[in-house]
Amino acid sequence: MRVTALAGGVGGARFLRGLLAALRSSPDPARRGAQLTVVVNTADDVTLHGLRVSPDLDSVMYTLGGGIDEERGWGRDDETYGVADELARYGQSPTWFTLGDKDVATHVVRTRLLAEGRTLTEATEQLCRRWRPGARLLPMTDDVVETHVDLAPVPEAERAAHDGEAGGRRVHFQEWWVRLHAAVPALAIEPVGAAAARPAPGVLEALRDADVVVLPPSNPVVSIGSILAVPGIRDALVATAAPVVGVSPVIGGAPVRGMADACLSAIGVPTTAAAVAGLYADLLDGWLIAEGDEAPAPGPRPLAVRHRPLLMSDPAATTALAGAAVDLALELAGQVVPA
Ligand code: GDP
Ligand code: CA
Repeated sequence: MRVTALAGGVGGARFLRGLLAALRSSPDPARRGAQLTVVVNTADDVTLHGLRVSPDLDSVMYTLGGGIDEERGWGRDDETYGVADELARYGQSPTWFTLGDKDVATHVVRTRLLAEGRTLTEATEQLCRRWRPGARLLPMTDDVVETHVDLAPVPEAERAAHDGEAGGRRVHFQEWWVRLHAAVPALAIEPVGAAAARPAPGVLEALRDADVVVLPPSNPVVSIGSILAVPGIRDALVATAAPVVGVSPVIGGAPVRGMADACLSAIGVPTTAAAVAGLYADLLDGWLIAEGDEAPAPGPRPLAVRHRPLLMSDPAATTALAGAAVDLALELAGQVVPA
């Protein structure tokens, strides 16, 4: 069985760990032996102090490889910050993006491989030789795509609350998200470079040849939305014979963690499970929503909706959630689901 997932960073990574656990512990031999391919968002990538940083690839790699800081859900465990302290003493900016010492090593390796002419796909493969994440991690593209955000003007009286930001300018997504905590409203969010980007090698094949495609509860705008903005990927999801099953990142009108509501507002979409499904209406076959949330209105494609506990509160709950997504996919594919 071939399972392909799209993913952002923390939410995607957590879900994928549950997905691997659900597959590996299944009584069904096909699921136990399933191969997982993950197409990861790279539009959050940023160059800091000359180093190429791929936050979502690293979150997935560290989480599945057992090196993640469990509390935060991102970055390395047992981290220290000597390099960041020294950079600050040299007056080097930005200082708002956390770069741990162990994490810096990952970025040094990636930056060096890219400088030597390797692709991001190849650099990721090399990093994964250490981490053995138990899945094939593919960047969505080897081309440079960077999400930029148009900030609303910030009234003078409110600037102090936003790190002195006056707004009315375009910034990298990371500056909006990390420095400004997405608290300054975004007028527009654009994955710059996406229109001219090509899917990385293996991405379209992984979607076409999959038996099951899963959309974890990743940010629908800046994680899944960025992946879908790479020409060819959306079409491959629409066309694949595999059922495409998604998990809502919104429960009861709120993103469970983080500021995804600020991203949805920027594109004029309400923060509801139904509205998020609407963003995928052309490609989605199954949708898991929380108890009490409303099913989406009928769209262009038949959609099977199930109510399930959607909180990834601990590994067992996350494994059960991911297992429910696979169950629904196999049910839609007409395969018997063992009890
Ligand atoms: P990021 O790149 O680190 O922001 O991570 P992702 O885009 O992969 O995932 C972030 C999203 O995960 C957030 O927008 C939340 O809506 C969602 N999320 C976080 N925790 C949970 C949870 O426990 N359950 C569900 N259903 N969604 C969650
Ligand atoms: Ca991200």
